[in-house]
Amino acid sequence: MADKIVENIRKEAKRILEEKIVDIVIGFEKGTLPYTASPVFIENPDDVDKLIWNRYCHNNLAVYLRNFPDKKIGIIVKGCDSRSIVALMAEKQLTRENIYIIGVPCEGMLDKNKLLEEFGDNPPIEVKEEFLYPSCQYCEHKNPVIYDFLTGEPVQEKEEEPYPDVVEFEKKTLDERWKYFQEEASKCIRCYACRQACPMCYCEECFVDTNSPKWLDPGIDLPDLQVWHIIRAYHQAGRCVDCGACERACPMDIKILWLTRKLNKDVRDLFEFEIGIDPEKVPPLGTFSLYDKEEFLI
Ligand code: SF4
Ligand code: SF4
Ligand code: SF4
Repeated sequence: MADKIVENIRKEAKRILEEKIVDIVIGFEKGTLPYTASPVFIENPDDVDKLIWNRYCHNNLAVYLRNFPDKKIGIIVKGCDSRSIVALMAEKQLTRENIYIIGVPCEGMLDKNKLLEEFGDNPPIEVKEEFLYPSCQYCEHKNPVIYDFLTGEPVQEKEEEPYPDVVEFEKKTLDERWKYFQEEASKCIRCYACRQACPMCYCEECFVDTNSPKWLDPGIDLPDLQVWHIIRAYHQAGRCVDCGACERACPMDIKILWLTRKLNKDVRDLFEFEIGIDPEKVPPLGTFSLYDKEEFLI
């Protein structure tokens, strides 16, 4: 099946490049290290044989779409990448006509660090759920939600509670939660790899880089680190597709996802909104309603 998917991806990529439906195709090529695949950008139809598909294609490729404003782009997507495209369309960052979407149902991506630890350089034939990245263990949308061409059989979506980790975390006392947050935030070196990996972090000037007003001092003082993490998470409230790209990009192995997942859950509970499903629906952060209950106002 995997071979057939790769064959279909290559065939379709070649066709859309040759017929000039797109100028470039964004997909994956074989990585240089075990258990890895790397994003690749193909402009020449003769290069499509570089394209691969396997369970190490974890990057959210939608992050690259804004890099080619004047081109028509072909892109290979899993469920999460496709939701990012829908989210970017809802926020008027992309035009549907400029993108050709090759969808692949996703069985979840495998955590290379866990695999290396368990199996060294000899990949196992079969892997269990425990080797999935956390974001993939909880994923509710493995099948692309939008596509022009689909290859591979649709996979069964999860139906159980999508936020068991958040529900568990909410049971902790305020002090325990604060301690956890402080410990995680204190490891941050402010490299911003998490921001760069996220398709939804597209501001021309991020709040951490502005001088007027200056929201943060440079350096790694704990209060500044905390502000960075809190504001980043709030900017993602109800906009994050839970792809986990930010957490995987973090060189300090900081657990970033639990914050955005908590806010996603709150937005779902309070506003019955889920990002990346309907390109016509703007996230609550980007809308105003006279009927908002505004219970937080005294
Ligand atoms: S988050 Fe979902 S769609 Fe994305 S890689 Fe994981 S399982 Fe696949
Ligand atoms: S905040 Fe992280 S999990 Fe959410 S969309 Fe961005 S990269 Fe993906
Ligand atoms: S990637 Fe990790 S270390 Fe870098 S800014 Fe983000 S949380 Fe901090």
